[in-house]
Amino acid sequence: MRFLEERRQVLAAAREISQSGMVMGTWGNVSMRCPEPELMLITPSGVDYQLMSMEDMVLLDSSYRIREGSYKPSIETPLHMEIYRNREGVKAIVHVHSIYASSFAVARKSIPVILEETAQVVGHEVPVAEYALCGTQALATAVLDSLGEDRRAVLLANHGLLAAGVSMEDALRICYVVEKTAQIALYAQELGGARTLESAEIVQLYQKFKSYGPSKIVKEE
Ligand code: 13P
Ligand code: ZN
Repeated sequence: MRFLEERRQVLAAAREISQSGMVMGTWGNVSMRCPEPELMLITPSGVDYQLMSMEDMVLLDSSYRIREGSYKPSIETPLHMEIYRNREGVKAIVHVHSIYASSFAVARKSIPVILEETAQVVGHEVPVAEYALCGTQALATAVLDSLGEDRRAVLLANHGLLAAGVSMEDALRICYVVEKTAQIALYAQELGGARTLESAEIVQLYQKFKSYGPSKIVKEE
């Protein structure tokens, strides 16, 4: 069995989307680019997240040939594959059906950048891709179109959310922040309306966040 670390990360993220309530039952899917050209690992289709194991992850090449795995891969394999093919920097993809993001996807309204966190983590408004049936090549094309060259999150009309990250941690964080943004956008609407951040502010917040994290104080001797 190859790519143990990637398998571990895909499985952990799959369990997390289930335990966090961002998907119900076996919906949603997770994938990761492998450190060998043209290979990706993706969750199997319709398998219970709690029963899923590392060897159940399906290893595929870019011509959709199964290299390792005994289950059918996620029905959204074309969607994940097209993104890896077209977006060099994307290393992990998480697709969820979370309630608030899905509400915007149903209303076919993009999620505005109303929180600093949205600007920091996502960096753009989350658009709705044109509707296409789940599991189709048409859905892959529509989502890729909306993702463009540098977007990190897209809503799937009447379906859910997809996050494309530079790592698994990043892709998961995008899902959490988009979901929270959608929830707060709705609450703010109740209070009379949400104010969106300006584009210059969004750019600044996004850039600054790249260096956010723990850093030790340098003490003078
Ligand atoms: P899979 O179980 O085949 O991954 O399908 C779930 C899903 O969310 C389809 O969009
Ligand atoms: Zn789905």
